[in-house]
Amino acid sequence: MKIAIMGAGLSGLACAITLEKHKIPFTIFEKRSQVGDRFVNGEALISALTRPISDPIAYLSEKHGINLQVLSPMRHILFFSEKEQSVLSGQLGFINLRGRDSKSFENQLFKQVKTPIKFNSTHTYEQLLQDFTHIVLATGDAAYTSKIQDFQTDLTVTLKGATVEGRFDRHKVGIWLNYDVAPQGYAYLLPYSEQEACITLAYPDYPTNREFDLNKLWEKFYALACRDFKQPLPITDRFEVTRYIIGLCGQPRIGNTFFVGNCFGAVMPGFGFGQFESIMTGIYAAQDLCGLGHYSDLTQPLRESYKNSLVLRRTLELLDNSQLDRIVSLVHHSLTQKVLNHEKLNPLKLASRLLRPWVSIKQKTNPKKQEG
Ligand SMILES: Cc1cc2nc3c(=O)[nH]c(=O)nc-3n(C[C@H](O)[C@H](O)[C@H](O)COP(=O)(O)OP(=O)(O)OC[C@H]3O[C@@H](n4cnc5c(N)ncnc54)[C@H](O)[C@@H]3O)c2cc1C
Repeated sequence: MKIAIMGAGLSGLACAITLEKHKIPFTIFEKRSQVGDRFVNGEALISALTRPISDPIAYLSEKHGINLQVLSPMRHILFFSEKEQSVLSGQLGFINLRGRDSKSFENQLFKQVKTPIKFNSTHTYEQLLQDFTHIVLATGDAAYTSKIQDFQTDLTVTLKGATVEGRFDRHKVGIWLNYDVAPQGYAYLLPYSEQEACITLAYPDYPTNREFDLNKLWEKFYALACRDFKQPLPITDRFEVTRYIIGLCGQPRIGNTFFVGNCFGAVMPGFGFGQFESIMTGIYAAQDLCGLGHYSDLTQPLRESYKNSLVLRRTLELLDNSQLDRIVSLVHHSLTQKVLNHEKLNPLKLASRLLRPWVSIKQKTNPKKQEG
């Protein structure tokens, strides 16, 4: 077996670490000149969305020997809708760094890989096929997947973000559910430290949303972030991502090619979380290569989560600001807090079961919004 991993991001590096643990040799290719050589941003892991695993960091360490340090545990999420505000508290998840910072998740994974990475790679998938028997496609987008097989694109997303300075509680995150600012999307503030945070605006590029001017929406969001965090938030760095694809591959493995991370479809359509899922696909591909299971079976629960999360996405885009106000006001409710914090409950699965019939009725009577 001659294995090539194409891409040294979360999924490719998780695959590399797992193969090394089982003493299986491989070659890993990375297009950039170093790991994580892109903008720095804050990302999050939300425990309620990774159930049945409530602590993904402990799970990766104890079950798979992959060790990651987060910036902070997330203890409070402040929800802001057009007219309501509420707080969810508990052991809600983690905040971590991505990109070219040495503390980013990809750089932490890189330090756990002993095999040298072939940087500045210009090898195409087709070229790698000539020299390797097995390929793990981990390029972080669906370009190759769509070329090779059916990839169901459910939406593409526009993201605009910035690093801001200010005074922050590092355990407190802000989420805005306000369609005047993020049409059918969301915006959030994730603190890096007590002095710095990342603010991000994300919304789907449905035809109805393409008429919006991103810069105007950004200005509105920025004003809200300053107002709701009660301070000016001077910007020190910016990033923008256009048409970020969210979808799912038809087959996780075709012949000897494994589709991992975003090549598999690891980003959950509800709120765009995909870090944990990407790492897991990398681990599962390696386990298959080590003879420890079948990649398609191992990734089946991730496909289920994706489908549940898609119900959540379709629900969100059928709502309007007054319904979002009602939802945000419910976050205060002790039952909501209990369900979201209860380790044995899977809120995503539960919500998808309850909402699926409503979504399908609504889509039949109002089929307009989702063609992207
Ligand atoms: C702005 C933004 C915010 C996000 N926020 C969150 C969040 O809060 N929580 C969360 O869980 N998820 C979040 N996500 C999603 C998460 O970042 C992704 O799911 C995850 O990074 C995907 O991992 P991956 O291994 O597929 O790709 P990556 O980690 O992106 O790695 C892909 C690697 O492949 C390399 N590569 C590309 N092409 C080639 C090639 N031809 N040859 C060799 N190498 C190549 C790239 O340079 C890169 O190093 C966010 C995504 C974005 C864009």
